[in-house]
Amino acid sequence: MGKIKKLLIANRGEIALRIMRSAREMGIKTVAVYSEADRNALHVRFADEAVCIGPPPSGESYLKMDTLIEVAKQTQADAIHPGYGFLSENEDFASRVEKAGLVFVGPSAQSIKLMGSKLAAKEAVAKFNVPLVPGTSEPIQDVTNAQKIAKEIGYPILIKASAGGGGKGMRVVESEEQFIEQMERAVSEATSAFGDGSVFIEKYVTQPRHIEFQIFGDKHGNVIHLFERECSVQRRHQKVIEEAPSSVLTPELRNAMGEAAVNVARACNYYGAGTVEFILDENLNFYFLEMNTRLQVEHPVTEMVTGVDLVKLQLKIAEGEKLPFAQHELSLHGHAIEARVYAEDPANNFLPDIGTLKTYQRPQGNGIRVDDGFEQGMSIPFYYDPMIAKLICHAETREMAIAKTIRAIEEYEITGVETTLGFCKFVMQHNAFRSGNFDTKFVEKYFTPEVLITAPEPEDELLAAVLSTVMTGTKKSTAETGVSEPVVSKWKQNRLVRK
Ligand code: ADP
Repeated sequence: MGKIKKLLIANRGEIALRIMRSAREMGIKTVAVYSEADRNALHVRFADEAVCIGPPPSGESYLKMDTLIEVAKQTQADAIHPGYGFLSENEDFASRVEKAGLVFVGPSAQSIKLMGSKLAAKEAVAKFNVPLVPGTSEPIQDVTNAQKIAKEIGYPILIKASAGGGGKGMRVVESEEQFIEQMERAVSEATSAFGDGSVFIEKYVTQPRHIEFQIFGDKHGNVIHLFERECSVQRRHQKVIEEAPSSVLTPELRNAMGEAAVNVARACNYYGAGTVEFILDENLNFYFLEMNTRLQVEHPVTEMVTGVDLVKLQLKIAEGEKLPFAQHELSLHGHAIEARVYAEDPANNFLPDIGTLKTYQRPQGNGIRVDDGFEQGMSIPFYYDPMIAKLICHAETREMAIAKTIRAIEEYEITGVETTLGFCKFVMQHNAFRSGNFDTKFVEKYFTPEVLITAPEPEDELLAAVLSTVMTGTKKSTAETGVSEPVVSKWKQNRLVRK
């Protein structure tokens, strides 16, 4: 395979733009595809060519394999990058792309298939001595037998769907009495969500940290890792804050986990970018969870601390190049934190708050990167994920990266929709986060909507005066109502959020 000349990006939003930027720097022409809801989207404007592929629902546009391949051929693109989400982990798509004589910027269809099944993945990596959470290695057929195994493992246990993803299809069982009922629920949930009712059991690690390793393989059998990302701050098993490096890994543990991650990749003859997820228990034992066979949402934190452009590397690997560095040539520089900015209302159970970005001003300055797909005045389409942006801050130390993130959140001005900015600031300011001593229960343990109720700082006299006049009540009523538009801009609100 020679150089890629023209790349079709089978995705939308920030990730489509992010991929196009790297492609352009490499002299590769770009083709955007878009649904009718994304006609004015930035990725459409940025691309060299853009083709409308259907109505807004993704099933009628971004997920239409035949249409995407057809458009690639019509526009004479020679490769397709799937981004994340949509068709990025669809082995059928990967193989159809290759059968059409195009390059799929990602791993082989076989690797995707193997890692798409949590059970098959566990079986494959066990041969490479990668540590696994104690549990069953086959789909549960006999519930009574499974109950016996659960007892041996010891409660609490977790029932997981083999085809699961995005935190769906998981159920914690605290005691034997609940087992049968939870089992039935898990199977029916897995069947309706994934069309596959296979479930298995794992020991439930009660205070886990989620640590994942970025790996890369080439088509010549070389595999390396680009260190870890700590993704323990999660809400309903969905990541909200990610950082690199993790504050709990010693160099020895980092090496051991990195080696295990490389072995996971070897277990499925992997090439391209991939992420190996582990959980770490309170005694720093690590266990393989699963592998994501694509670029991750949170890949920028790795780019910031390693200086490697992961999308460019993906494209070079797809062209058949060898990895340009060996493991010992890679090192970590400073600390990076990513905060996911969603159009969601943290005060209202994080319900999506779709609308128009009346004000949209990005933070700026040294060490700040904003990956987004919006501009002021644009509407967030209701059909897709409500993520507005990823705010990534890089500084010499973790403490400095936290301070920079807080400063950037305060500077970020978004009005028209509720966002998770204030929530992210709450995390940055929390002692548990700052100390580095936290696990995946962080949000459950510490967050209630009340912590976001804004109250002016005593020294913020001018603002306090403005507030009390405009709110026409006492300070107490300000605290009860919270500060809302149009009284104070969101910029001021972000400054005021505190715990
Ligand atoms: P998904 O594919 O749905 O994302 P994962 O297996 O990656 O599922 O798990 C998602 C999250 O669920 C993890 O980040 C972790 O917080 C939690 N989790 C998964 N397995 C366990 C376990 N055995 N014990 C405790 N928590 C777990």
